[in-house]
Amino acid sequence: MNENLTADERYRRLRACTLYLLDMDGTLYLGDEVFDGAVDFIRTLEATGRSYIYLTNNSSRAGEDYITRLRRLGFPCERENVFTSGMATGLWMREHAAGKPVFVVGTRAFQRELASYGVNLLTASLDDKSLPDRVDTVCVGFDTELVYRDLQLAVHYLRKGARFIAANPDWVCPMPGGEVLPDCGSICALLTASTGVKPVYIGKPDRNMVDLISEERKIPNGKICCVGDRLYTDIAVAQNAGAVSVCVLSGESDQAMIDAAERKPDYVLRDVKELAGILRP
Ligand SMILES: [Mg+2]
Repeated sequence: MNENLTADERYRRLRACTLYLLDMDGTLYLGDEVFDGAVDFIRTLEATGRSYIYLTNNSSRAGEDYITRLRRLGFPCERENVFTSGMATGLWMREHAAGKPVFVVGTRAFQRELASYGVNLLTASLDDKSLPDRVDTVCVGFDTELVYRDLQLAVHYLRKGARFIAANPDWVCPMPGGEVLPDCGSICALLTASTGVKPVYIGKPDRNMVDLISEERKIPNGKICCVGDRLYTDIAVAQNAGAVSVCVLSGESDQAMIDAAERKPDYVLRDVKELAGILRP
């Protein structure tokens, strides 16, 4: 970035954004520890007439679960402020698989989310006689309730020519103490190994989620700012969608990773507290 620019010039694109898409873990909090100034940052967005959506690739929980969690941590949050890869997948299905049978591998929360978008879903809980021989689509999420029958049926349907759609490409989900859980991308890798069929992913870094929000809110992508700590999801989704990107150094990325990155974020800030200072008049 040109160091000779005044702060006014440097932050013009950032300040012009009217909708902020916010990553949560590593950006607003880590586990149950809320970062200093994070709630105040949300209040600053509200006070300056900007809107915001908490955006997550995690498809194991429903939007409702995030509302409960964010409120418990002290963040303002209404239904309209949350968008998950599961919700994006529901919207995608409503448009591309309306009325068609969809075999779903995902948590009960994910299934409920898809059902709320009118998806005609079938699951491994049905007995063999109630299941058709073919379906239109196999749809996979981050399934923390996975059983072998899910995999067996998904393989059957993919080999019979079903389309393969998945909520989010993450290989693992980070857990406290440096542990990880196998995430949606790893479950899909197993299915690909068994069938040769590769999924189309809906979540970050695919531009789908930003495009869906842009369409719904009638805000062009160039006026949307993605804030997050992961270069290959939070920042990449902004770059793929032509939105503005802010990488905060409060989570996964450090300056060395940004220096090494081929595509740089538009802005690199210490944390959302610094971002709030920039957005305040
Ligand atoms: Mg994060």
